[in-house]
Amino acid sequence: MNSDSAISTRGLTKQYGQTTVVNNLDLDIQAGQFYGLLGPNGAGKSTTIHMLTTMTAATSGEAWIAGQKIAADPVAIRRTVGLVFQDSALDRTMSIDENLQFAAAMYNLSPHDANKRIDELLAVFGLQDKRKRKLLTLSGGQRRAVDIARGVLHKPKVLFLDEPTIGLDLPNRRAIWRFVEQLRREEGMTVFLTTHYLEEAAACDHVDFIQQGQLQLGGSPTALTQQLATYILEISTPNPEQISSQLSPLFGQPIREDEDLSFKIAANDVDFYALQQSLGDAVSAMQWRKPNLNDVYLWTFCSPQQGNVI
Ligand code: ADP
Repeated sequence: MNSDSAISTRGLTKQYGQTTVVNNLDLDIQAGQFYGLLGPNGAGKSTTIHMLTTMTAATSGEAWIAGQKIAADPVAIRRTVGLVFQDSALDRTMSIDENLQFAAAMYNLSPHDANKRIDELLAVFGLQDKRKRKLLTLSGGQRRAVDIARGVLHKPKVLFLDEPTIGLDLPNRRAIWRFVEQLRREEGMTVFLTTHYLEEAAACDHVDFIQQGQLQLGGSPTALTQQLATYILEISTPNPEQISSQLSPLFGQPIREDEDLSFKIAANDVDFYALQQSLGDAVSAMQWRKPNLNDVYLWTFCSPQQGNVI
C-alpha cells in the first residue's frame, strides 16, 4: 500500500458464482485527486465502489481508505467516505430537512453542527428556503442536489460519485460540478467518479478504463488523448467500403458505424483540404478535429470495422 494514497487496492477481486466481475484490481489514488473509473455497462465500476465502501465484501484482495484497511473496521470506513448513487438514498415522503437531519444523526453530528452544515450545503444549490419541502415536490435536479448534500454532510475524506449527473439537464450538471470542485478546493476531498458523460471525466486528474472487471488503460485525460492521435478524421459516405480501403493504407483501419467512418491520425502534417478534394463526391461530409476522451473510450472498447460495441 502507498502511504500517501486516499484509496489503495491490491488484487481486489469480486466473484459472483463462477463469474469474476472485478478482477485483481490494483489502484493507488492520491489524497485530493479527482479520479474517474470509466467503462461500459457491466464493467464492474459500481461493484468496485460497493467493495470500497464496505457495501459488499471482496472475494479476495485488500483495500485501504485513508490508510485504514477496510475489512478491519467497516464502521470507521463508512464515516470516512461519502456516497452518491444514481438511486437516491433519500425518502421522498420526508422533507429536505428531515432527510438531512436523519443522516446527520447517523453521523453523530451535534444539532448545532448539523444545522450549520445543512444551511451551508443548501445555500450552494439555492435550496435554503425549501428546507421544509417534501422531496416529492422537488425537481430531479433539486433532489440530486439534496442527495449530494447528504453524501458530504459529514465532510468525508473520500467522496464516491456513481453516475451522479445521469438524467440531469446541463445547468444542473454544471451546478453539481461547480460544487464538487468547491469541495475539492475547500475541503481537500478526494473524489472517485464513474460517469457515462465522458466530457465530465475530462476534468479528472487521472482516469482508468475498465472492461469485464479488468483495468485496460489509464492516465491523465490530456495524456490519453494525446497518445491516441493527433487528429480524428470523420467521414460520412455512401461508399464506406471504398473509402475505407482507399484510406486504410494511409491511416490504418477506421471505426465504422453504418455510413460513418472514424480514422485516428498520428501525423501532424496531413493536408486535409487536398484529401477532401481528392475524395470529391465520394464523401457527403468530412471533418477533422483534436481527439477527446470519447475517442479514447471508443478506440479502447471498439474494434475497427466492428462499429460501436458499447
Ligand atoms: P457497472 O457499474 O460497470 O455497470 P456493475 O459493477 O454494476 O457494472 O456490474 C458488473 C457485473 O456484475 C455485471 O455483469 C452485473 O450483472 C454483475 N453483478 C452485479 N451485482 C451482482 C449481484 N449482486 N449478483 C450477481 N451479479 C452481479
